[in-house]
Amino acid sequence: MKDNLELLKSYQLKITPQRIAIVEELASHGHLSIEDLYQGLLERFPTISLATVYKNINAMEEKAFVQEVKIPEQKSKYELTKANHAHVVCQECKKVEDVVVSTKVILDEVKDVSHYQIDRDDLVFTGLCPECVVRQSA
Ligand SMILES: [Zn+2]
Ligand SMILES: [Zn+2]
Repeated sequence: MKDNLELLKSYQLKITPQRIAIVEELASHGHLSIEDLYQGLLERFPTISLATVYKNINAMEEKAFVQEVKIPEQKSKYELTKANHAHVVCQECKKVEDVVVSTKVILDEVKDVSHYQIDRDDLVFTGLCPECVVRQSA
């Protein structure tokens, strides 16, 4: 709890109970859509609106405290900003997980080959998670 407070402060974000709760939700679930966050927060803040959650996430994204994760065919999810990593998405149970790999190598190669100035480097791989593979072959 105190850590999350310090974390928000270090990004020069205004501290509110709702923001602390958003950080807690993201820290424990990893990747959440605005709607997921809203549902999670409703338990603690019955009067919170979806617009408030949007506003808070936007403010946090502006300060690079959270980042958007774009996933094909799913609503955007948000996560606390961490070192570059790729994502794997299960097409069956829809879970999203971090994969810590050196995305920089791929990014450098893309820059070299395309000569583009890249501003987003989301790497999302889709497939079946180990649990769903087992379930499908059972
Ligand atoms: Zn799965
Ligand atoms: Zn992630």
